[in-house]
Amino acid sequence: MRGLIIGFAVTAPLLLIMLWPHAPLAGIGILALSHALLLYPTLRPNVQWLGPVVTAFEPNDKEIWLTIDDGPTEDTRDILEVLEARGAKATFFVKGTLARARPDLIRAILDRGHTVGNHSDTHPSAAFWCLLPAALAAEIDGCAAAIPPTLWFRAPVGMKNPGVHPALRRRGMRLIGWSVRGFDTIGDDVGRVVRRIAPRVFPGAIVVLHQGRPMSTSCVARVVDELRARGYSLVVPADERLKTKR
Ligand SMILES: [Zn+2]
Repeated sequence: MRGLIIGFAVTAPLLLIMLWPHAPLAGIGILALSHALLLYPTLRPNVQWLGPVVTAFEPNDKEIWLTIDDGPTEDTRDILEVLEARGAKATFFVKGTLARARPDLIRAILDRGHTVGNHSDTHPSAAFWCLLPAALAAEIDGCAAAIPPTLWFRAPVGMKNPGVHPALRRRGMRLIGWSVRGFDTIGDDVGRVVRRIAPRVFPGAIVVLHQGRPMSTSCVARVVDELRARGYSLVVPADERLKTKR
Protein backbone atom coordinates (compact mmCIF):
# COMPACT_ATOMS: atom_id res chain seq x y z
CA MET A 1 0.00 0.00 0.00
CA ARG A 2 2.78 2.41 0.96
CA GLY A 3 4.59 1.71 -2.32
CA LEU A 4 1.42 2.24 -4.36
CA ILE A 5 0.58 5.53 -2.67
CA ILE A 6 4.10 6.93 -3.04
CA GLY A 7 4.34 5.64 -6.62
CA PHE A 8 1.07 7.36 -7.47
CA ALA A 9 2.27 10.60 -5.83
CA VAL A 10 5.42 10.49 -7.97
CA THR A 11 3.65 9.73 -11.27
CA ALA A 12 0.64 12.04 -10.78
CA PRO A 13 2.55 15.21 -11.82
CA LEU A 14 3.64 13.42 -15.03
CA LEU A 15 0.04 12.45 -15.72
CA LEU A 16 -0.95 16.08 -15.18
CA ILE A 17 1.60 17.20 -17.80
CA MET A 18 0.40 14.54 -20.26
CA LEU A 19 -3.27 15.33 -19.71
CA TRP A 20 -2.88 19.11 -19.59
CA PRO A 21 -3.51 19.83 -23.35
CA HIS A 22 -6.52 17.49 -23.52
CA ALA A 23 -8.16 17.23 -20.10
CA PRO A 24 -6.61 19.68 -17.65
CA LEU A 25 -9.29 19.17 -14.98
CA ALA A 26 -8.74 15.40 -14.99
CA GLY A 27 -5.01 16.00 -14.58
CA ILE A 28 -5.57 18.35 -11.64
CA GLY A 29 -8.03 15.85 -10.13
CA ILE A 30 -5.45 13.05 -10.34
CA LEU A 31 -2.80 15.25 -8.71
CA ALA A 32 -5.21 16.26 -5.92
CA LEU A 33 -6.19 12.63 -5.35
CA SER A 34 -2.55 11.53 -5.15
CA HIS A 35 -1.84 14.21 -2.55
CA ALA A 36 -4.93 13.27 -0.56
CA LEU A 37 -3.90 9.60 -0.57
CA LEU A 38 -0.52 10.59 0.82
CA LEU A 39 -1.72 13.19 3.34
CA TYR A 40 -4.66 11.27 4.80
CA PRO A 41 -2.68 8.35 6.27
CA THR A 42 0.14 10.73 7.22
CA LEU A 43 -1.95 13.14 9.25
CA ARG A 44 -4.58 10.74 10.51
CA PRO A 45 -3.41 8.79 13.58
CA ASN A 46 -3.69 4.99 13.46
CA VAL A 47 -4.43 4.79 9.70
CA GLN A 48 -2.16 2.03 8.42
CA TRP A 49 -1.90 2.66 4.67
CA LEU A 50 1.75 3.66 4.98
CA GLY A 51 2.74 0.81 7.32
CA PRO A 52 1.80 -0.98 10.53
CA VAL A 53 0.66 1.00 13.58
CA VAL A 54 0.19 -0.81 16.90
CA THR A 55 -3.34 -0.04 18.09
CA ALA A 56 -4.06 -2.80 20.64
CA PHE A 57 -2.48 -5.80 22.37
CA GLU A 58 -3.32 -9.41 23.17
CA PRO A 59 -4.74 -9.19 26.73
CA ASN A 60 -4.71 -11.68 29.54
CA ASP A 61 -8.16 -11.06 30.92
CA LYS A 62 -9.17 -7.40 31.41
CA GLU A 63 -5.89 -5.59 30.83
CA ILE A 64 -5.25 -2.09 29.51
CA TRP A 65 -1.98 -0.42 28.51
CA LEU A 66 -1.84 3.14 29.80
CA THR A 67 0.60 5.38 27.93
CA ILE A 68 1.53 8.87 29.12
CA ASP A 69 3.09 11.24 26.56
CA ASP A 70 5.23 14.40 26.54
CA GLY A 71 7.34 14.05 29.70
CA PRO A 72 9.36 13.91 31.71
CA THR A 73 7.86 17.02 33.30
CA GLU A 74 7.66 18.41 36.84
CA ASP A 75 4.56 16.35 37.62
CA THR A 76 6.32 13.03 36.89
CA ARG A 77 6.90 12.13 40.55
CA ASP A 78 3.28 12.97 41.46
CA ILE A 79 2.03 10.78 38.62
CA LEU A 80 4.33 7.98 39.78
CA GLU A 81 2.77 8.24 43.25
CA VAL A 82 -0.72 8.06 41.73
CA LEU A 83 0.18 4.94 39.74
CA GLU A 84 1.96 3.31 42.68
CA ALA A 85 -1.00 3.88 45.01
CA ARG A 86 -3.28 2.16 42.50
CA GLY A 87 -1.00 -0.72 41.55
CA ALA A 88 -0.91 0.49 37.94
CA LYS A 89 1.94 0.22 35.45
CA ALA A 90 2.36 2.55 32.46
CA THR A 91 4.67 3.46 29.60
CA PHE A 92 5.94 7.03 29.43
CA PHE A 93 6.60 8.22 25.85
CA VAL A 94 9.14 10.96 26.51
CA LYS A 95 10.80 13.73 24.55
CA GLY A 96 14.56 13.40 24.17
CA THR A 97 15.27 17.04 25.05
CA LEU A 98 13.39 16.73 28.35
CA ALA A 99 14.85 13.30 29.13
CA ARG A 100 18.40 14.66 28.71
CA ALA A 101 17.61 17.52 31.09
CA ARG A 102 16.05 15.26 33.75
CA PRO A 103 17.72 11.84 33.76
CA ASP A 104 16.64 11.58 37.42
CA LEU A 105 13.00 11.47 36.34
CA ILE A 106 13.69 8.78 33.73
CA ARG A 107 15.44 6.79 36.45
CA ALA A 108 12.47 7.31 38.81
CA ILE A 109 10.03 6.02 36.16
CA LEU A 110 12.12 2.88 35.59
CA ASP A 111 12.74 2.33 39.31
CA ARG A 112 8.98 2.10 39.87
CA GLY A 113 8.67 -0.65 37.26
CA HIS A 114 7.26 1.41 34.39
CA THR A 115 8.77 1.66 30.90
CA VAL A 116 9.94 4.53 28.73
CA GLY A 117 9.27 4.90 25.00
CA ASN A 118 10.63 7.22 22.31
CA HIS A 119 8.42 10.24 21.53
CA SER A 120 10.99 12.05 19.30
CA ASP A 121 13.73 14.40 20.40
CA THR A 122 12.11 17.84 20.11
CA HIS A 123 8.45 16.91 19.44
CA PRO A 124 8.02 19.02 16.29
CA SER A 125 4.20 18.79 16.34
CA ALA A 126 3.52 20.97 13.33
CA ALA A 127 6.39 19.83 11.11
CA PHE A 128 6.91 16.16 11.95
CA TRP A 129 4.76 14.88 9.09
CA CYS A 130 6.92 16.62 6.47
CA LEU A 131 10.41 16.17 8.00
CA LEU A 132 13.03 15.02 5.51
CA PRO A 133 14.80 11.70 6.25
CA ALA A 134 17.86 13.23 7.95
CA ALA A 135 15.74 15.36 10.29
CA LEU A 136 13.45 12.43 10.98
CA ALA A 137 16.43 10.22 11.83
CA ALA A 138 17.75 12.94 14.17
CA GLU A 139 14.39 13.03 15.97
CA ILE A 140 14.34 9.27 16.52
CA ASP A 141 18.04 8.85 17.33
CA GLY A 142 18.25 11.99 19.48
CA CYS A 143 15.59 10.68 21.83
CA ALA A 144 16.98 7.13 21.70
CA ALA A 145 20.34 8.44 22.93
CA ALA A 146 18.68 10.02 25.98
CA ILE A 147 16.77 6.96 27.22
CA PRO A 148 17.40 3.23 27.75
CA PRO A 149 16.99 1.08 24.60
CA THR A 150 13.35 0.78 23.50
CA LEU A 151 11.53 -0.81 20.55
CA TRP A 152 8.67 1.63 20.77
CA PHE A 153 8.23 4.96 18.99
CA ARG A 154 5.19 7.20 19.17
CA ALA A 155 5.04 10.00 16.62
CA PRO A 156 4.27 13.54 17.84
CA VAL A 157 0.47 14.03 17.78
CA GLY A 158 0.23 10.65 16.03
CA MET A 159 1.34 12.03 12.65
CA LYS A 160 3.33 9.54 10.69
CA ASN A 161 5.50 11.10 8.01
CA PRO A 162 5.83 8.83 4.94
CA GLY A 163 9.44 8.10 5.93
CA VAL A 164 8.78 6.98 9.48
CA HIS A 165 8.07 3.29 8.78
CA PRO A 166 11.28 2.62 6.84
CA ALA A 167 13.26 4.56 9.47
CA LEU A 168 11.74 2.52 12.31
CA ARG A 169 12.14 -0.76 10.42
CA ARG A 170 15.85 -0.10 9.96
CA ARG A 171 16.14 0.38 13.71
CA GLY A 172 14.01 -2.67 14.58
CA MET A 173 11.41 -0.39 16.15
CA ARG A 174 7.62 -0.23 15.98
CA LEU A 175 5.20 2.66 15.64
CA ILE A 176 2.84 2.72 18.62
CA GLY A 177 -0.57 4.31 18.14
CA TRP A 178 -3.49 3.91 20.52
CA SER A 179 -7.01 2.55 20.83
CA VAL A 180 -8.53 5.36 22.87
CA ARG A 181 -7.44 8.91 23.63
CA GLY A 182 -8.99 11.33 26.06
CA PHE A 183 -8.13 14.61 24.32
CA ASP A 184 -6.73 15.64 27.69
CA THR A 185 -4.59 18.38 26.15
CA ILE A 186 -7.74 20.33 25.34
CA GLY A 187 -9.47 22.27 28.15
CA ASP A 188 -9.28 21.42 31.85
CA ASP A 189 -12.34 19.25 32.44
CA VAL A 190 -11.08 15.97 33.94
CA GLY A 191 -14.62 14.55 34.02
CA ARG A 192 -14.93 15.01 30.26
CA VAL A 193 -11.70 13.04 29.71
CA VAL A 194 -12.92 10.19 31.93
CA ARG A 195 -16.32 10.11 30.22
CA ARG A 196 -14.64 9.98 26.84
CA ILE A 197 -12.25 7.14 27.68
CA ALA A 198 -14.30 4.88 29.97
CA PRO A 199 -17.00 3.75 27.51
CA ARG A 200 -14.50 3.18 24.69
CA VAL A 201 -11.97 0.87 26.35
CA PHE A 202 -11.86 -2.90 25.87
CA PRO A 203 -9.49 -5.67 27.03
CA GLY A 204 -6.24 -5.07 25.15
CA ALA A 205 -6.87 -1.35 24.58
CA ILE A 206 -4.07 1.23 24.51
CA VAL A 207 -5.05 4.46 26.27
CA VAL A 208 -3.11 7.68 25.75
CA LEU A 209 -2.90 10.54 28.25
CA HIS A 210 -0.40 13.39 28.61
CA GLN A 211 1.65 14.96 31.37
CA GLY A 212 2.93 18.46 32.01
CA ARG A 213 -0.46 20.18 32.19
CA PRO A 214 -2.17 21.48 35.34
CA MET A 215 -4.76 18.70 35.29
CA SER A 216 -2.44 15.88 34.17
CA THR A 217 -1.94 14.26 37.59
CA SER A 218 -5.63 14.33 38.53
CA CYS A 219 -6.49 13.15 35.04
CA VAL A 220 -4.27 10.07 35.39
CA ALA A 221 -5.71 9.41 38.86
CA ARG A 222 -9.34 9.67 37.76
CA VAL A 223 -8.87 7.61 34.60
CA VAL A 224 -7.03 4.84 36.48
CA ASP A 225 -9.69 4.86 39.23
CA GLU A 226 -12.48 4.58 36.67
CA LEU A 227 -10.79 1.76 34.75
CA ARG A 228 -10.05 -0.16 37.93
CA ALA A 229 -13.68 0.30 39.03
CA ARG A 230 -14.62 -1.36 35.75
CA GLY A 231 -12.44 -4.35 36.59
CA TYR A 232 -9.41 -3.50 34.45
CA SER A 233 -5.78 -3.83 35.48
CA LEU A 234 -3.17 -1.51 33.97
CA VAL A 235 -0.13 -3.30 32.60
CA VAL A 236 2.73 -2.84 30.17
CA PRO A 237 2.46 -5.67 27.61
CA ALA A 238 5.49 -7.46 26.19
CA ASP A 239 6.33 -6.49 22.61
CA GLU A 240 5.16 -9.89 21.27
CA ARG A 241 1.64 -9.12 22.48
CA LEU A 242 1.25 -5.91 20.47
CA LYS A 243 -1.23 -5.95 17.60
CA THR A 244 -2.06 -3.72 14.66
CA LYS A 245 -5.73 -4.70 14.74
CA ARG A 246 -8.25 -5.05 17.55
ZN1 LIG B 1 3.22 14.31 22.25
